[in-house]
Amino acid sequence: MSHSNISTGTEHAAGASGLVSAEPISLTAESAPRAESADVIIVGAGPSGSATAAYLAMAGLDVLLLEKAAFPREKVCGDGLTPRAVRELITLGIPTPAEDGWIKNHGLRIVGGGHRLELDWPDLASFPPYGLVRTRKDFDEILARHAVKHGARLLESTNVTEPILDDRTGAIIGVRAKALDPEGRPTGEDLVFHAPLVVAADGNSSRLSMSMHRPRRDDRPMGVAVRTYYTSPRHDDDYLESWLELWSNDSQTGKRVLLPGYGWIFGVGDGTSNVGLGILNTSAAFGKTDYRDVLKRWVDTLPPEWTFNDETMTGPVRGAALPMGFNRQPHYDLGLLLVGDAGGMVNPFNGEGIAYAMESGRLAAEVIAQAFARQGDAGREKVLRSYPRVMKDSLGGYYTLGRGFATMIGHPEIMRLAVKYGLPRTTMMKFLLKIMANLAEPHGGDAGDRLINALSKMAPDA
Ligand SMILES: Cc1cc2nc3c(=O)[nH]c(=O)nc-3n(C[C@H](O)[C@H](O)[C@H](O)COP(=O)(O)OP(=O)(O)OC[C@H]3O[C@@H](n4cnc5c(N)ncnc54)[C@H](O)[C@@H]3O)c2cc1C
Repeated sequence: MSHSNISTGTEHAAGASGLVSAEPISLTAESAPRAESADVIIVGAGPSGSATAAYLAMAGLDVLLLEKAAFPREKVCGDGLTPRAVRELITLGIPTPAEDGWIKNHGLRIVGGGHRLELDWPDLASFPPYGLVRTRKDFDEILARHAVKHGARLLESTNVTEPILDDRTGAIIGVRAKALDPEGRPTGEDLVFHAPLVVAADGNSSRLSMSMHRPRRDDRPMGVAVRTYYTSPRHDDDYLESWLELWSNDSQTGKRVLLPGYGWIFGVGDGTSNVGLGILNTSAAFGKTDYRDVLKRWVDTLPPEWTFNDETMTGPVRGAALPMGFNRQPHYDLGLLLVGDAGGMVNPFNGEGIAYAMESGRLAAEVIAQAFARQGDAGREKVLRSYPRVMKDSLGGYYTLGRGFATMIGHPEIMRLAVKYGLPRTTMMKFLLKIMANLAEPHGGDAGDRLINALSKMAPDA
């Protein structure tokens, strides 16, 4: 094994399933690319890929986790973790003590319409009563190393370029990749990996899904978010803060338009705050708005003592898309299974994606482990085909409600009335927090929990 960027935990002598050999494929020509095989190949070591890899390695499967970047690497994000994401960290076995740089928060502070409301995270049996903040530069590496600790083989600086297909069935049976140098330039080394199952965890643009003819669905909401960091006395805020009034100027009428989205201020605890905004594509202003400009104009209205200005900005404003409400499907077909952003799993209510990336990784790993315990291809395929249903059962109805919500607040007048009349009503806002952060107790709970569960069950699957 000559690749310089490989990390392994416990070595696997052979495919744990017994279905596929983990021995290197023998090469006949000197110029042939280096080839390896595994039970499962996972493309992308973000939260979805690393969670899937860790769970599969724990289940005894031979997992290859391929990542084009080299850790530590930056990832454009708000760095905010709700109790739903913390629950996933706990289940995965990742400790989050304050002395290791995990910044705890107790709830959400909402600002808008002249109001300022502090809502604690609900105290439930199913979710911890706190959230966290951690930069993705640390967070993603911690998760990837955790997967390695449990036995996954991580190959960094490995850019997956195309699927390898079975001529007869059209199913994916591996991937081709190019090795990269530390600056991200191709070294000229071609790599080939084989496995009977490939997981696309390659994020929003998911080239792998695209090359397997799984484009984005236009009938699902999409968000855009931008963010930067500032040094600020607010860096150790123990509440996540969101501002509900973001304005853009209509280029034709010159009128101010209220945008469907929110601005955030999340204390990172290292002297800086992550400040950004996310906006849905459901309003007429979408696509005609300069989001960096909206961010700048909003930040300019904030109190000067918070020191969010050009001098204190520690990095450029960066942005990316938020694929929501299962905007890429099916989540399993022809040997390719989708997790996280690749499967469009961002919550349309609040733009949160990390919890769902990790959650889909956990659910996918459960299905895959069961599939690999079956004898023969037909038995394995039958189990893998249950994954789309598993995802729909756990989030489908809720995401359909989220789609309706996104469409509704795309109308500036509805957004304005919601801010004006919703915010002063604490009981209603507590209920909305539970809906928007998907924090309803699944069993029992109070009347609000039961209503959310009933609505999610009644709504058709996304
Ligand atoms: C500005 C912004 C703010 C956000 N804020 C929050 C927030 O505060 N909280 C929250 O929960 N969510 C937030 N999100 C959403 C969140 O970032 C995503 O939902 C989450 O990163 C999805 O995880 P993932 O593992 O599916 O994909 P990603 O995190 O995108 O990981 C994909 C990985 O695949 C790798 N990859 C891609 N292509 C290849 C290839 N060809 N070969 C090998 N590797 C490849 C990439 O390098 C990357 O490491 C935000 C998003 C944006 C844009």
